Amino acid sequence: MSDRNEIDALIDLMARLPGLGPRSARRAVLHLIRKRALLLQPLADAMGAVAASARECLNCGNVGTAEICPICADERRGNGQLCVVEDVADLWAMERSGVFKGRYHVLGGTLSALDSVGPEELRIPQLVHRVETEAITEVILALNATVDGQTTAHYIADQLETRVELTSLAQGVPIGGELDYLDDGTITAALNARKRI
Ligand SMILES: [Zn+2]
Repeated sequence: MSDRNEIDALIDLMARLPGLGPRSARRAVLHLIRKRALLLQPLADAMGAVAASARECLNCGNVGTAEICPICADERRGNGQLCVVEDVADLWAMERSGVFKGRYHVLGGTLSALDSVGPEELRIPQLVHRVETEAITEVILALNATVDGQTTAHYIADQLETRVELTSLAQGVPIGGELDYLDDGTITAALNARKRI
């Protein structure tokens, strides 16, 4: 049993997914093979389609299939509010809660001296540009309550404070908590109780 085959290769790839390890990957692959017609083939087709079409919105960094995502393309979302999030998962969490009616800006991470992530590695220059060129009246910082998240929030506040009203989500957000892990009610409460910076 020394020859590595396609099934082993698939297990190795699956084991790299967040939340999965080698053991869960083996179980998942076995399950997929048993449900070949019902699950494995449709999954392979869906993955092929997403691999061919997924891209980042040129405006906000959301992940979708178009150059400009549906939120940026929707005129009704242009209400002057811009919500800044670290990651696409946070944007999707806000959208699931359905409470926010404006547009987003995805930074793609946080500033980190340790990992030498500077403003240029994030989409901060694009954020400043949007505030200068779009009709934005309020920037809502919905960054995680981690040290790096708060450092990033302060940096952005320094860049924008003279240009636009700045608010941040209320601290209903648990320390170290990420938006994606919050339930919709908590996100709604944190947005409604947001405060001026
Ligand atoms: Zn967009």
